[in-house]
Amino acid sequence: MENTFFEFDKRIIDASVQALDLCKDELAKIDEIKDYNQNKMLYAFQKARTSESHLLASTGYGYGDRGREVLDEIYATVFDAEDALVRYNFVSGTHTLEVALFGVLRPGDKMLSVTGTPYDTIHPVIGINGEGNGNGNLKDFGIEYAEVPLTADERPDYEAIEKAVEPSIKMVYIQRSRGYSTRPSLTCEEIEKIAAIAKRKAPECIVMLDNCYGEFVEIKQPLSSGVDLMAGSLIKNPGGGIAPTGGYIAGSKDLVELCACRLTTPATGKEIGATLGHNRELFMGAYNAPIASCEALKTAVFAAALFEILGYEVSPRYNEQRGDIIQVIKLKSSEALVAFCKGIQKGAPIDAFVEPEPWDMPGYNCKVIMAAGAFTLGSSIELSADAPLREPYACWMQGGINFPSGKTGVMLAAQSMLEEGLMTI
Ligand SMILES: *Cc1c(COP(=O)(O)O)cnc(C)c1O
Repeated sequence: MENTFFEFDKRIIDASVQALDLCKDELAKIDEIKDYNQNKMLYAFQKARTSESHLLASTGYGYGDRGREVLDEIYATVFDAEDALVRYNFVSGTHTLEVALFGVLRPGDKMLSVTGTPYDTIHPVIGINGEGNGNGNLKDFGIEYAEVPLTADERPDYEAIEKAVEPSIKMVYIQRSRGYSTRPSLTCEEIEKIAAIAKRKAPECIVMLDNCYGEFVEIKQPLSSGVDLMAGSLIKNPGGGIAPTGGYIAGSKDLVELCACRLTTPATGKEIGATLGHNRELFMGAYNAPIASCEALKTAVFAAALFEILGYEVSPRYNEQRGDIIQVIKLKSSEALVAFCKGIQKGAPIDAFVEPEPWDMPGYNCKVIMAAGAFTLGSSIELSADAPLREPYACWMQGGINFPSGKTGVMLAAQSMLEEGLMTI
């Protein structure tokens, strides 16, 4: 049945029919991933004997909060981890990664980032270019940092990694997602290759992964690919669009315990922390996460196919392997970026009637425009797009907790460009 709720131009409808046909094999493959991971999630709930009482609130110190423990167990199972630490108290993905880094690194330790410079918000945590110095970052505590740049075509430089990892390196740090760069994301296969080099050159090292945006995108898990510890944000993939805030750390039992000791105190670790009334949402979010992640992935693949048909350069292409849910579309001009974001906004369930405007966002040397009409502020598992108004006029689009409306959002973005005379078909 044709959807007549939105007045699409015939040319946009035709192009999207063509796009769906072009990427149908990829969409089918994503459905297989979704089926596998969702059933793994169901199994994890049952294995942990999840019960109605676990959804209830605890207060005060939160001693003996079974819901908190069961939620950790569920994430540990789906991530192939020995243990996990899933808390609404993590205020952001950056905070979660920070707790993991401070949890396991000690003064004098050396941290080596092997996938180039990490995501912007991690710079002040590490002390890259002096950022965050004096505020208690890793550098202030005597943790050394070095990085191995990516190759010219923005891939991990396996040879340079081989050379740089010495037995004295305590942590080899990998970022899976492209973040807001143009480099490709890493698949578990590539992560496994890096981890193998790391363990061969420095058998005692901790291989840590920034897994933001990478959860449930593949069947294979980083923790079964040589990674020892990973972390991410619950308002991205693993919170299923339902968790209102929070983060997770997962990995080997001893490392997760150290992270818990950093989050609470060295004596209390995982044993403490009231969940107030948040367990129910976190359980529901976990349960929805494999589906939501794959719907976002399908939205990205569809956008790649549609905009390629419409004559734009996209990254990744619709049929390229993906390790995250982010889609970059190069839109050729700042007017086109603005029109695109306005269209995305029109596809949102919340605030669809507002028009996003470019603004001077702190930390950028140009204006930035953002489109998001989300249930959770700043949630990027919900359909959203951000674009700095500068060369190469690229838009970073991600999310879409269900494909039917994600697809509509992408089509509205194209239509908005067409209506403003910024696209020719
Ligand atoms: C989002 C993200 C972060 C940080 O998460 P925030 O919630 O924005 O603090 C870190 N690394 C990567 C790759 C991300 O995508």
